[in-house]
Amino acid sequence: MAERRPVVIAGAGPTGLMCALALRRQDIPVVLCEAEPGLTHDLRAGAFHPPTLEMMAPYGITERMLIDGIKVRRWQIRNKPGDLIAEFDLGLLADITPFPHRLHLEQHRLTPIQLDILKSEGGADIRFGCKITGFTQSAHGVSVAIERNGESETVEASWLIGADGGRSVVRKVSGVEFEGFTWPETFVVASTIHDFGEQGFAYNCYIADPTEFGALFKLPHDGPPGLWRLAYPANPDESDEALLEAPRVEAALQRLVQKPEPYDVVYKSTYRVHQRVAAAFRAGRVLLAGDAAHLNNPLGGFGLNSGIHDAINLCDKLGHHWHGESEDLLDLYSRQRRAATVEQVQAMSIRNKQMMEERDPAVQRARLTELIAVAADPAKARQHMLNTSMISGLKRANEIQ
Ligand SMILES: Cc1cc2nc3c(=O)[nH]c(=O)nc-3n(C[C@H](O)[C@H](O)[C@H](O)COP(=O)(O)OP(=O)(O)OC[C@H]3O[C@@H](n4cnc5c(N)ncnc54)[C@H](O)[C@@H]3O)c2cc1C
Repeated sequence: MAERRPVVIAGAGPTGLMCALALRRQDIPVVLCEAEPGLTHDLRAGAFHPPTLEMMAPYGITERMLIDGIKVRRWQIRNKPGDLIAEFDLGLLADITPFPHRLHLEQHRLTPIQLDILKSEGGADIRFGCKITGFTQSAHGVSVAIERNGESETVEASWLIGADGGRSVVRKVSGVEFEGFTWPETFVVASTIHDFGEQGFAYNCYIADPTEFGALFKLPHDGPPGLWRLAYPANPDESDEALLEAPRVEAALQRLVQKPEPYDVVYKSTYRVHQRVAAAFRAGRVLLAGDAAHLNNPLGGFGLNSGIHDAINLCDKLGHHWHGESEDLLDLYSRQRRAATVEQVQAMSIRNKQMMEERDPAVQRARLTELIAVAADPAKARQHMLNTSMISGLKRANEIQ
């Protein structure tokens, strides 16, 4: 029977692994295909919001993340050079979430936890070094083309989940448009062991500045004092090598907090940032989730979080369908998660970036003054926390029918 064929998942990033776990918990057969020979280790997302921690808790993931992760209750808006403008305290949400804080932990420390739990629970067919190259679909199933060790084969699936990242082959073959734009600037990410906490910086700060805005946050690293990661924009016409020259990175850090000794920079890289959303998250028996379905700038830390939100929403509905309910639920997945992406993640991340980079000093002063007033008013601050922690947007989107 078509329905007894497995669900094939493209990509063992955080979204694909979360899908595999959520489906296995419902006894649904899963084939998880990851193109790379193992989990990827590049430095990417590192901030988790309260609803994401709540969603992962029943799987035992959150408990394990809390062992090494840094709880971040306060976050700040600062200017350059580093003066405090406003501070928000997530403790205000202690009455509605068991996790009234952000949790900082690199993505490459989350995925081994997910994989370990997936393996220990058994039953998933996990294939590394297995690239999905295309598919064809009918009303009853999907024939998924894979390449492994230079050999091509086809896996017959009931559904195909594309969790294969921003350059998703699954999305491209499905023909779904990836609407949006790419920001003109390149972002530089530099991590240092200098402890900005000594200057009063909270573990998560957004830096407002008309020429060089940024985001600073503290990650666990291999032990105390942890790593502080600064992301800031740079000229895209310059080569990566030029932007990452030690004196350039040093100067950027000195512009944030001036100190006599040079910064000890242990990691640096560049990346481009996009704002794109798939026109639909469902195309027949193909479902898109995570970066395959949406990309956003990092101001707010929404990207990875919303991939986990996709996975939980999708697999709940796929589970209900698997056990007898209408497949229309999968259209509801698309409607709900696309709305959450467009109205919440895209809108807030674009607004955050525009506020941080505003070039007109008068406009920026006005916006920051408004934010100071929000921070000073407990009711308004609470609403701001609900919005920026993705709680309000999730609630609104989940009410869509
Ligand atoms: C520098 C940087 C900083 C970021 N910071 C944050 C942050 O602070 N907070 C936040 O929430 N988000 C952040 N993000 C975004 C976040 O990292 C992504 O949203 C997240 O990785 C999405 O997870 P995913 O599983 O959907 O996709 P990915 O992590 O990209 O995983 C996709 C997987 O699919 C595999 N794959 C690709 N093609 C195929 C194929 N054809 N067949 C099989 N497998 C395939 C890939 O190898 C990969 O393992 C950041 C991103 C970057 C680049």
